[in-house]
Amino acid sequence: MAETAPLYDTYMRAPLRFERGEGVWLITESGERYLDFGAGVAVSSLGHGHPHLVGALKEQADKVWHLSNLYEVPGQETLGKRLTEATFADKVFFTNSGAEALECAIKTARRYQFVNGHPERFHIITFEGAFHGRTIATIAAGGQEKYLEGFGPKAPGFDQVPFGDIEAVRAAITDETAGILIEPVQGEGGIRPATNEFMRALRQLCDEHNLLLILDEVQSGVGRTGKLFAHEWAGITPDIMAVAKGIGGGFPLGACLATANAASGMKAGTHGSTYGGNPLAMAVGNAVLDIILADGFLQHINDVALVFRQGLASLKDRFPDIIEDVRGEGLMLGIKAAIPSAELLQAIRGERLLAVPAGDNVIRLLPPLVTTAEEAREGLARVERAAETLRAARVRKSA
Ligand SMILES: *Cc1c(COP(=O)(O)O)cnc(C)c1O
Repeated sequence: MAETAPLYDTYMRAPLRFERGEGVWLITESGERYLDFGAGVAVSSLGHGHPHLVGALKEQADKVWHLSNLYEVPGQETLGKRLTEATFADKVFFTNSGAEALECAIKTARRYQFVNGHPERFHIITFEGAFHGRTIATIAAGGQEKYLEGFGPKAPGFDQVPFGDIEAVRAAITDETAGILIEPVQGEGGIRPATNEFMRALRQLCDEHNLLLILDEVQSGVGRTGKLFAHEWAGITPDIMAVAKGIGGGFPLGACLATANAASGMKAGTHGSTYGGNPLAMAVGNAVLDIILADGFLQHINDVALVFRQGLASLKDRFPDIIEDVRGEGLMLGIKAAIPSAELLQAIRGERLLAVPAGDNVIRLLPPLVTTAEEAREGLARVERAAETLRAARVRKSA
């Protein structure tokens, strides 16, 4: 019998095999060095092999790996306290991934309405272009046909409207609406930031209708946009927020944050996770926060972001045939290609620079938050060389 590959065929992987990482660099088995401005999709927030993270993980590994939530887990209490002190939230539930953080957020919102006498209010308004994960509920929340097809009936209770359209949101509110769920900056959808006005208008609508504002900051959170959380740019706070990716710095870790009021329905037995809040994850999460919350770190992100923004703007001016637009916030950057974005991604990879594909013909640059200005310029030089190569190839083709 012919042998088939053992792994599910769900991923289209690039033929690259990395053996180790050092800061912003990934090194292949054959010793080639790639500048990692994908950071494992905004996960490796402090780059690879950060000594503080490695030390925290090793230290915890020598003590105890796993306890379950049958017992008190001191690392959860510490990380929970730090997250609530740094944000709008009063309560935290730890998960292992973004989708699980969203599941907790959705359940928290529905339970809130339920315990307040409104079991019929379970609908959540979501936005076109959204991405919230790959579970049965989160593909329904994201609403993208390509992720829903073939997986049975779409989970009920998600009503989708165009991104940024406040009148459409208003019109979608019914007696069955529990809340509104939005990424302050759509990631997978193509680095599309919501305007501050839109975020404030959503907050206001929620207040008027007793709805919960649920933010998906799985990608935009933990310093990525230059604030601890992206919604801070709009000067508003949510009721519930899903966090993951950058909070674990590469260790699987997510969290659902909520105000005490929003979380009031989540009593003993209503939710759980075997691994959520595992001591190893807590040790790493706390170590990540040591760095992100340190004086001057967010300022560093904003300084480096400026280098990127200026560099990318100048590349857009010089290569309008390759780069149509540059957008994003902080170190969550999108290059909208004027050619098929897969070609741009490929050319950039040819310069040994890693980026991440996204919707809307965009490629994402999500560099580690520890990227220096010098490393940023190195990355920009590689984008420039890729653009030159692409232009030369297109000139040849049309000649
Ligand atoms: C990655 C992502 C998710 C899903 O996270 P997983 O850890 O893959 O489950 C959800 N929302 C947003 C905005 C994301 O970027």
